[in-house]
Amino acid sequence: MTDAPTYGFDTLQIHAGAKPDPATGARQTPIYQSTAYVFRDAEHAAALFNLQEVGFIYSRLTNPTVAVLQERLATLEGGVGAVCCSSGHAAQIMALFPLMAPGCNVVASTRLYGGTITQFSQTIKRFGWSAKFVDTDDLDAVSAAIDENTRAVFCESIANPGGYVTDIRALADITDGAGIPLIVDNTSATPYLCKPVDHGASLVVHSTTKYLTGNGTVTGGCVVDSGNFDWSANDKFPSLSAPEDAYHGLKFHETFGPLAFTFHSIAIGLRDLGMTMNPQGAHYTLMGVETLSLRMQKHCENAEKIAAWLENDSRVDYVTYAGLPSSPYYERAQACYPKGTGGLFTFAVKGGYEACTKLVDALEIFSHVANLGDTRSLIIHSASTTHRQLSPEQQEAAGAGPNVVRISIGIEDADDLIRDLDQALAKACG
Ligand SMILES: *Cc1c(COP(=O)(O)O)cnc(C)c1O
Repeated sequence: MTDAPTYGFDTLQIHAGAKPDPATGARQTPIYQSTAYVFRDAEHAAALFNLQEVGFIYSRLTNPTVAVLQERLATLEGGVGAVCCSSGHAAQIMALFPLMAPGCNVVASTRLYGGTITQFSQTIKRFGWSAKFVDTDDLDAVSAAIDENTRAVFCESIANPGGYVTDIRALADITDGAGIPLIVDNTSATPYLCKPVDHGASLVVHSTTKYLTGNGTVTGGCVVDSGNFDWSANDKFPSLSAPEDAYHGLKFHETFGPLAFTFHSIAIGLRDLGMTMNPQGAHYTLMGVETLSLRMQKHCENAEKIAAWLENDSRVDYVTYAGLPSSPYYERAQACYPKGTGGLFTFAVKGGYEACTKLVDALEIFSHVANLGDTRSLIIHSASTTHRQLSPEQQEAAGAGPNVVRISIGIEDADDLIRDLDQALAKACG
């Protein structure tokens, strides 16, 4: 089955990109655990290497199991193509790679996954790239931050961990005007709750490690290409619009049209950076994606109940969940994310840093781990872990102050989770 816009999400999450195995009839997508693929003949090999024919050469570039996941995620996100990678962080580099050159910058939201802030503020400098962080609610500040060397704006749809939801359309209006792509990290929302492409995003990135796989088994990432961005409208994106030296002068946009970004990412990004997803990992993620909508509904339902319970508890200072009417983002969430705002939020514990560390130690069902988007409920004290490398100002800006814990609500019984939080808060707050 290929992408058929007439099918609903629940059908596509199971079928898109997959068909019974032509060799064996296997109904489930096989794990093609093979590094290389035999060419029919020398002419076939040459056509594949020339990108005149699409097929499998070597699994650093393409693999049949990974290809099914790529097509499934592209379909669910409403894109034309996708490239899977070894992790979410790999996907972020892969998203920027065709756009950037030394001296170029990305304008990024201050409200991002802690690791992304580190990757953007430190590590990309080694490539001669840089990031300018702005509050993406301040649209004037976003416009002002974009200069002649800016090649993208980067945000998260539902930002991890602070309960913040982005007005993607408002940012897309700015990036459209500036002739640069909008990249949205849709990890926390997943395409079930939000399709950034429908709101004007050019590229969507995922840590498939989280909700898409759904049970904490493998790391992975993905870049979905909307196919909507005109890479040749200005001279900012020569890797896509001009002859590409790294592929014997091929002009990707002229040759592949809306698939230019996807082809470039495979032919050059995966070829030379090598941040490839393996077929075993793709298999686990395909298994997870089949139940995505069911899990997301339950994550949202549980999170709404638990956030409301916590908000009314005297041991809790505040809860940042955009699904709560008290949230400053409630109206925006209802408008932009009508199916729910996910299973991830933070809350502040009276008693600060020490109470937070006692709380994570006292919980029995919740696991204290650096992950999110698992069927299991998870908790972390960001300030002492994931956001530890950030300055106090960056921690506050990211919604990860010392008195704050982040929880990723699983799909267990909500009443059991509430009882667990109740007994642990009793121990934490004395
Ligand atoms: C986890 C995460 C990442 C990084 O993904 P990895 O798979 O851990 O590399 C990026 N963005 C968000 C929102 C995440 O939650």
